[in-house]
Amino acid sequence: MKLVIATRNEDKLMEIKEIFEGSSFELSSLNEFPQAPEVEETGDTLLENALLKAESAAKATGLPALADDTGLFVEALDGEPGVWSSRYAGENVSYEENRELLLKNLNNVPEAERTAKFVTVAVFVDEIGHFKAEGEVEGLITSEPRGTNGFGYDPLFQSIYSEKTFGELTRSEKRAFSHRGKAFEEILRILDTKFLK
Ligand code: IMP
Repeated sequence: MKLVIATRNEDKLMEIKEIFEGSSFELSSLNEFPQAPEVEETGDTLLENALLKAESAAKATGLPALADDTGLFVEALDGEPGVWSSRYAGENVSYEENRELLLKNLNNVPEAERTAKFVTVAVFVDEIGHFKAEGEVEGLITSEPRGTNGFGYDPLFQSIYSEKTFGELTRSEKRAFSHRGKAFEEILRILDTKFLK
């Protein structure tokens, strides 16, 4: 069964494709559908944004679609950057600019108060309807970036499972603990039950 992942973000794609490796689902992405429109993430919640992306991709490609929306929620910042994680430092900014603003806003906040969590809401959409799965991982924001693996805020996020930041973990180690790993493993379990009886 063919599915399209509603993203052009290669970092996300690699993580999701790895989870589906060996499954009976054949994944493509919006990179194979250049005519598919860019979607503005205008929702107030991760679920709304994930649905906007998946519904748009399903419509543009005629395929059932998967999408995720992810946010980093930092307790000392009242949950910021949250739904705004990709645009924290402004529109079209780099991962590094977002990380720098986060560190600046946490300047002088002691380690014990730097708790944070990544949350992913993943959705599947086809012509019949949709279902969702959530994954989250708790941890803290380090005082400086460590590691060059992963993407986004990974070099600043140390989960409760390891002394290493996500930027220092291999992709398969990150997947074992991560918000996205948990959400898409659940999506895959549901898809297997639903379509491969
Ligand atoms: P979105 O789900 O594409 O809207 O992601 C929002 C932003 O969160 C991205 O631009 C990244 O900066 C960040 N992000 C999403 N997933 C991850 C992750 O797995 N690790 C680190 N940062 C992430």
